[in-house]
Amino acid sequence: MKKGAVMSQRILIPWAMLEIGKETLKKSKAELVFLHGPRGELPTLKELIEGVRNADVLIPRGTQLVPRKVIMANPNLRGIANYGVGYDNIDVSSATQLGIPVTNTPGVLTETTADLAWALLMATARKIPQAHNYTLAGQWRGPGGKVFMGQDIGPGGSNRAKVLGIIGFGRIGQAVMRRSRGFKMKVIAYDPFMKEKIEQTKGVEYRELDDLLKKSDFITLHCPLTKETNHLIGGKELEMMKPTAILINSSRGPVVDERALVSALKKGKIAGAGLDVYEREPRISPGLTILDNVVLLPHIGSATDDTRGQMAVVAAKNAIAMLRGKRPPNIVNPEVFESPSYLLKLRIY
Ligand code: NAP
Repeated sequence: MKKGAVMSQRILIPWAMLEIGKETLKKSKAELVFLHGPRGELPTLKELIEGVRNADVLIPRGTQLVPRKVIMANPNLRGIANYGVGYDNIDVSSATQLGIPVTNTPGVLTETTADLAWALLMATARKIPQAHNYTLAGQWRGPGGKVFMGQDIGPGGSNRAKVLGIIGFGRIGQAVMRRSRGFKMKVIAYDPFMKEKIEQTKGVEYRELDDLLKKSDFITLHCPLTKETNHLIGGKELEMMKPTAILINSSRGPVVDERALVSALKKGKIAGAGLDVYEREPRISPGLTILDNVVLLPHIGSATDDTRGQMAVVAAKNAIAMLRGKRPPNIVNPEVFESPSYLLKLRIY
């Protein structure tokens, strides 16, 4: 432990945090406890439970599971500061029940993730990775000696505006909408919580989900993973899409029923899919990896040095606020502040 660190305060970081985040955390004077393998390997659930017992604040990595078992291991935890905007990895209701605030890192990753979604859309529509692989292998043409034929994103030769369907019109969904402007697309969106915002946004029309699925040339998912959005896109929904449609998922894997997607792609029910996220990460359905109409990425939506660095800083600032018993900037369960268990804890702080 470094000189000046306060023995009684510990921040548990069970992954290889970027230096900029560690520097921010050092200002707290708390002891930083790292729990990961030499190459950043995540701890087992058992190790995480053990680690949490002695911690005041936990900073999990975006997709690192923090189930009830982990939370129950230390009801005195002052906070969980997730490194990521999505927080479906954390059992928030258990945390709230025990008076534990939970935070995320919204905003700093919006533009970067929208860039990635857009890159996936373009790469899938124009079969860029497939063509790249053939070119590297010294072949000028694609399978069967044919030219790699793609789909227009802009109006193209037919001069028809393509329809972009956005599901989840929050920060990232809107950032993707802005990227579509230069491509003169017709934009439609579905988000039951943002209907008014969609209707007020110039050049965007609100559509119910079924209608959006039927009308879109490209569908891009930007909703959080919740009980309601789990398998939001399943066999029935894929069936409704155009056979020329392309599905882009950079939200969370379980929003799409992966088995149904493989089947739809195999049977040509839709033309292609660009995926950054999967149902059982880091595993990918073997059916997906043998298809030639998919572009697959290993969950890198926010993965740029600048953005990941800022996410680490935001997570660290949230952690420090909670350590000090203050309201953190990015609380996701504000109702916790009214809970008797939190108020009781506050007296002990
Ligand atoms: P956000 O601003 O909260 O936007 C999500 C929007 O989806 C909100 O308006 C939300 O409404 C809405 N929504 C909730 N349930 C819905 C439903 N059933 N159907 C349609 N829309 C629904 O979040 P964001 O910052 O844009 O991030 C969106 C998601 O992207 C995150 O939750 C995360 O899972 C994912 N993400 C992935 C990566 C990656 O690396 N691939 C990176 C960053 C984020 P409410 O606010 O009312 O719930």
